[in-house]
Amino acid sequence: MTAALGIKGQCAHCDITFELKPWQLNAIAIEEPFDCPYCHRELELRCPRQLRHFKSLEYWALVRPSMVTFTCVVLIVALVAEWVGLISVIGQFNISLVVLLVHFMVLRYARHRQRITLNLHAVEPTLPIEQLTRIACARLGQR
Ligand SMILES: [Zn+2]
Repeated sequence: MTAALGIKGQCAHCDITFELKPWQLNAIAIEEPFDCPYCHRELELRCPRQLRHFKSLEYWALVRPSMVTFTCVVLIVALVAEWVGLISVIGQFNISLVVLLVHFMVLRYARHRQRITLNLHAVEPTLPIEQLTRIACARLGQR
């Protein structure tokens, strides 16, 4: 996952912000809890808004390669158009300049969207076994 780079997570317990490793990002992607590398408590991403943003990162990662392709194609087309006399040298220069400008603006925006800090929450403890058996027994007794 190339989108992963530069994503940070903040632990709710020790308040330490750390760069998330690829395996931790995978854990978040499949909504599995993982241990905080500092206080070793289980963490998960519970905020639905951040989870949605996190999942959209995959698409933002595609922006860079598609923009590179797009820019290259436009530059080549402009060059060929100039060669065959469809546009002037100035026209070719202007098109190239505009497309490069758009290229860097889009990449800048994509990078900005990819830089996030996730607020990681502690996993709520599940009910202990004894309590579950007591509930089960109480249910059976009601019959
Ligand atoms: Zn921690």
